[in-house]
Amino acid sequence: MSDKNKNVASTGNTVGKVTSAGGPGFGNKREEGLSGKVLLKVDGLKVSYGGIEAVRGISFDVPEGEIVTLIGANGAGKSSTLRAIVGLEKAAGGTITFNGAELTSMGTEQIVKNGITLVPEGRRVFVNLSVYENLRMGAYLRKDDLSADLEWVYSLFPRLKERHWQAAGTLSGGEQQMLAIARALMSRPQMIMMDEPSLGLAPIIVQEVFDIIREINRQGMTILLVEQNANMALKAADKGYVMETGRITLNGTGMELAENDEVKEAYLGKSHK
Ligand code: ATP
Repeated sequence: MSDKNKNVASTGNTVGKVTSAGGPGFGNKREEGLSGKVLLKVDGLKVSYGGIEAVRGISFDVPEGEIVTLIGANGAGKSSTLRAIVGLEKAAGGTITFNGAELTSMGTEQIVKNGITLVPEGRRVFVNLSVYENLRMGAYLRKDDLSADLEWVYSLFPRLKERHWQAAGTLSGGEQQMLAIARALMSRPQMIMMDEPSLGLAPIIVQEVFDIIREINRQGMTILLVEQNANMALKAADKGYVMETGRITLNGTGMELAENDEVKEAYLGKSHK
């Protein structure tokens, strides 16, 4: 069932990793060694709305500890893919295996318990709840003590700590995006999926969001990232897949795709270097 997308790799599949400096006291689990283990395996996934196939049998892997990105234009099927992985859309075909468990027959709650969370497009924080209450909501499936995790997310997002009791609806767009990511981290996922985290944000804030994505990854988190901002996504990603009208048409390391003429032409603008 694997799709016949074109691999643009010229040599191997390793690429120099852009790592952030990180802060004092942070671990660096990523550098302790990427296991090479495939954490998420999507094979022949199809998603249909009525008779319309939005995702037409795609296959890709997310290795543990890596950042993998799906890029593509509006309507290519990227969000539908993430929603199917987390059980918000039913797969019309194919398999989704996470850590050896088959997800397509599970409900969303069970999938979250298995270690996947989705930061949805458009942030969707609970606007009337405080920052703290939003973070607690992210951990609603957990019964254990949250204080260490709160401390951890507040160390990643000091601006949220300052706004602990502020209503989420009064935060800036960038702060809301940070809160959406922080909330997802509170469920202690093994893999976090982000749908267009840069959408609608000013360039300087987009940079901050990507810095945090790199930092979370440096601390060992596996990340599946959907983006229309191909430039930023490919710079951050170990591996990327290009989606067009429900199919994967190209794949390679982030760097290989960023250098690929078709990708440059279609997604990075002709002047992009
Ligand atoms: P975008 O970046 O605009 O969200 P995308 O690549 O994430 O694009 P999807 O949102 O997955 O693409 O949409 C893929 C196709 O499925 C589109 O043609 C879209 O109109 C259609 N689609 C998505 N959700 C639904 C739905 N709930 N009902 C019917 N069609 C849908």
